[in-house]
Amino acid sequence: MKIALVGIGKIALDQHVPALAKSPDWELAATVSRSGTVPGVRAFADLGTMLAECPDIDAVSLCLPPVPRFDAAVQVLRAGRHLMLEKPPGATLSEVHALQSMAGKSTIYASWHSRMALGVPAARDWMVGRTVRSGRVIWREDVRQWHPGQDWILDAGGMGAFDPGINALSILTEIIAEPLRLLDAELDVPANRQAPIAARLVLSQGIEADFYFREEGPQTWDMELVTDGGTLTLRMGGNVLEIDGQPVTGAPVIMGEYPALYARMADLVRQGASEVDLAPMVLVADAFTRGRRQTVDPFDL
Ligand code: NAP
Repeated sequence: MKIALVGIGKIALDQHVPALAKSPDWELAATVSRSGTVPGVRAFADLGTMLAECPDIDAVSLCLPPVPRFDAAVQVLRAGRHLMLEKPPGATLSEVHALQSMAGKSTIYASWHSRMALGVPAARDWMVGRTVRSGRVIWREDVRQWHPGQDWILDAGGMGAFDPGINALSILTEIIAEPLRLLDAELDVPANRQAPIAARLVLSQGIEADFYFREEGPQTWDMELVTDGGTLTLRMGGNVLEIDGQPVTGAPVIMGEYPALYARMADLVRQGASEVDLAPMVLVADAFTRGRRQTVDPFDL
């Protein structure tokens, strides 16, 4: 099947293009970008033109930040193509609901790359029948290292520290069957920004989360869940699984996440199905609704 990528920025070049190059299901047939290209792939500067000139392209994968993504998604669906969305699937929940209502026969896949991390399926299986007593999520990274110059990430709709933090929530909501509730949140918002540079969440099941976007030195994407039947630890963003301190998965294979997303997208298209799970984004929206904000020092990327 033929697919087009829209937004040739950091994640498109780091992950989507290499994953598509190896995919047995997809041919990257076009790109749409104001600035970037992929060697050997037909390039368009405008999405409408690409959709009009390439009726043979089955699906479009949007690698734009959340705020500009909705208008592009509407164009794709109105053109009757299948739609794959980077995480988070939108800037608001209501716009994702709107996309679902206009999907018609198109597949919509709201992807969560961290759910494809190596240890997550085994963690989900191990959690079946176990009850979480307490948990700690530590997701601390350096925004300047991972998102250089991406001012959108600290603007309204960019989610700030929740941009990586939602990956942790996507894992938690995948491996814990019982719905999670947000009980409390503290958001640190720089005086010159709209989105938090740090957030601390209290969730049901005794789980606390610490999201921090100014971590220098070693970066941490870990979670530990203490259950009535042992302790589960996921490290490296879900790629390393330990049970009661003993390793279960092998070496971290971070490059496996995006190939798995495109394989899933191909399955969904073949089945005529969609997959849109908004549970991680509901928790983020609840943190913005319920959380207490404090203004912290101005921050520049
Ligand atoms: P990015 O490089 O800043 O932006 C991606 C592309 O979006 C840009 O190349 C640009 O497309 C377009 N774009 C940016 N701002 C725009 C605006 N205001 N209006 C219209 N188009 C705009 O972002 P990214 O890091 O790739 O992230 C994109 C999405 O992927 C985000 O939702 C992010 O959460 C997710 N993601 C990122 C990472 C990561 O490590 N960076 C990891 C996993 C998921 P053109 O210039 O090509 O037209």
